[in-house]
Amino acid sequence: MNGWELSFDGKSLDDAQKCEVEILNVEDREIIAKVDGFEVVAPIVFHSPHHVFCSCKSKYSCKHEAALIYYIEKHSELLNCQSEEDLISSIDENQLRDFLKNEMEQNPKLKKAFLDKFGQEDVIDKEYYIEKLNQVFRSGEDGSFADFGIYNIDMMEYALSEFMDNELPKILGMCEHSFACSLVEKIAEVLGDDLAVSHDSWYDLAEDFMEYVYILEDSIYLTSDERKSLERATSEIVSYL
Ligand SMILES: [Zn+2]
Repeated sequence: MNGWELSFDGKSLDDAQKCEVEILNVEDREIIAKVDGFEVVAPIVFHSPHHVFCSCKSKYSCKHEAALIYYIEKHSELLNCQSEEDLISSIDENQLRDFLKNEMEQNPKLKKAFLDKFGQEDVIDKEYYIEKLNQVFRSGEDGSFADFGIYNIDMMEYALSEFMDNELPKILGMCEHSFACSLVEKIAEVLGDDLAVSHDSWYDLAEDFMEYVYILEDSIYLTSDERKSLERATSEIVSYL
């Protein structure tokens, strides 16, 4: 039993369940309703009905009043408890910052939305990573690259493995999953092109590489088209593992 129910007799509380409540007007300080044809007014004090009164003839707390209170209990949005705006403006700025920071650490979607809204365009320097990856590829260019366009995977192994272990996590950490996906596809092109499956280095790189592919395949940030494209780009590599 709720505290306010103590002001009512049992029969009124029971009968209140059968009353039909129609809200006529809602204001900050007052909710007005029609209950079984009688007008009932609920003054609102500190977000709670207080001294509700009914237009029926009953001298004591009546079922109509109880019915409206039950209704308000169930629909607490009527009480307009502090709007978000009031609430936010009442909070200390440092507390708000700390809260936001903690929440963003737990909630990548919030972080992404925040960065999309407030992040500067150069949150991630894409050109830097693209150039860095191109450098990695160049480190695998030897004589046979000049002749046949085939990279030397052994020569590239160290740099590519470094890139995957250090740069990809940074990019994913910034929630730039689509961009990471585009880089992974570039890597897939090189690994898939060469298919140097007789080399241990190829297997080591491909296994390392696939970890990122699996992470991206589950990513909530990729569109279905991006995921399909990623699957296409990596299917050949998968078939050799
Ligand atoms: Zn009444």
